[in-house]
Amino acid sequence: MQLIFLGPPAAGKGTQARRLAAEYGIAHISTGDILRAAVKAETVLGRKAQQYMDRGALVPDDVMIGIIQERLQKCDCARGFILDGFPRTLPQAEALARLLESLEKPIDYVINMEVPVDEVLRRMSGRLTCQNCGTMFNLVLNPPRVPGRCDYCGGPLIQRVDDKVETVHERLAIYRKSTEPLVEYYRDRGVLRTVDGTGNIDAITKRIIKAIGG
Ligand code: AMP
Repeated sequence: MQLIFLGPPAAGKGTQARRLAAEYGIAHISTGDILRAAVKAETVLGRKAQQYMDRGALVPDDVMIGIIQERLQKCDCARGFILDGFPRTLPQAEALARLLESLEKPIDYVINMEVPVDEVLRRMSGRLTCQNCGTMFNLVLNPPRVPGRCDYCGGPLIQRVDDKVETVHERLAIYRKSTEPLVEYYRDRGVLRTVDGTGNIDAITKRIIKAIGG
């Protein structure tokens, strides 16, 4: 099964993609996680990407397409995958379509997670990520049991630089301009499934499973 998760920042794509990937035994590919790992490791890619990420801008298409091209060849993708955070622009979607055609792995569904703007802003300001294992928490929606510590590995919880108020509005504006047109792109191709991304995490997972006929 090949899935794409679309939606504004903090729509819950990462949380739900992790759950669904575990449920179906398929790979979870988060381009944001790949880039953050490169930044942490201070690789050439990381240094280049950080300049864009810190101000909430998009990393150039050719860089992102190269990353995905390489990632989709890995053997954990054989049974399928969930793309979380890619594609984010029309050129990325078109490059992905060509790539998947050559791999003979068509997209089954694109899950469009809908969350109202005021909720997105509230979620982004409360979002915390474990510096060790990447698990996400939210002060409002799913707070950690011990403040500032990950429930799973005890690692420190930090606020992403790009979740600070100054960059949040920029990220939302970029989403509207560059990524939202993909909703129509995939609707035209008959694979779009829109899911209400508000409410509790389990309920949202159930809605997604229902939307893909699982
Ligand atoms: P995310 O964790 O998906 O919110 O991604 C964090 C940041 O990584 C974004 O704000 C972008 O700077 C960068 N990024 C992730 N995926 C992409 C992509 N497909 N195209 C361009 N930039 C991306």
